[in-house]
Amino acid sequence: MFRRVVYQYYTNVNYLTCEQCLALHGLIRRKPEAFPRIDHDCASSILPILRKELRQSREKSRRMRLRAQGELARRSLFERALSILPIEPDESLELLARAASIDLYIPDIERLVQTHDGFLRSHPDLRDRLRRQWLKAYSDKFGWRRYELLPEVMRLQREKAGLARIQELLG
Ligand SMILES: [Zn+2]
Repeated sequence: MFRRVVYQYYTNVNYLTCEQCLALHGLIRRKPEAFPRIDHDCASSILPILRKELRQSREKSRRMRLRAQGELARRSLFERALSILPIEPDESLELLARAASIDLYIPDIERLVQTHDGFLRSHPDLRDRLRRQWLKAYSDKFGWRRYELLPEVMRLQREKAGLARIQELLG
C-alpha cells in the first residue's frame, strides 16, 4: 500500500549535539526504522510528515541540513582558533568572529578563557578586543530568526545572563 506519511529526523542543533545526529538532521525517509538507533543524550525525534506536505518539508529539510553543516563548520573554526590563539592572535580572533557568525555558546567561551587564562591576562589589549567582539556577537545572535522564536522574556534573560558571563570572564 502507498504510505501516506514519511519521516524526518529532527535534533536540537547546538554545541552539544552529537555528530551522528548532525549527519541525520533534516533527512527524510520512508520508514522510521530507516534511521539508525543512536545511543546519545541529544533531544532528537523522528517526526511523521504527510506526503502532501512533502514539498514544503523538502525545503525545510534543506535548511536543516545547512544548519547542521554550519554547526560542524563552527566547531572546526572554533577549535582552530582555540589552538592558535597564543601563536596567531589576530587570525584566531578572525576565526572566532567567523565561528560566532554561525553561533556562539557560553560554555565554549568559558573553555577558551580557561585554556588561555594566563596568556589573556598578560595581553590585556587582546583580552579587551575579544571581550568586545564576543559581547557584540552574543547580543546579535538573539536577533536571529531562530532565537526570535523563543519567548521574549526567556530570550532577554538568556541574553542578559550570557553578556554578564562574558563580562565576568574577560572584564
Ligand atoms: Zn545525538
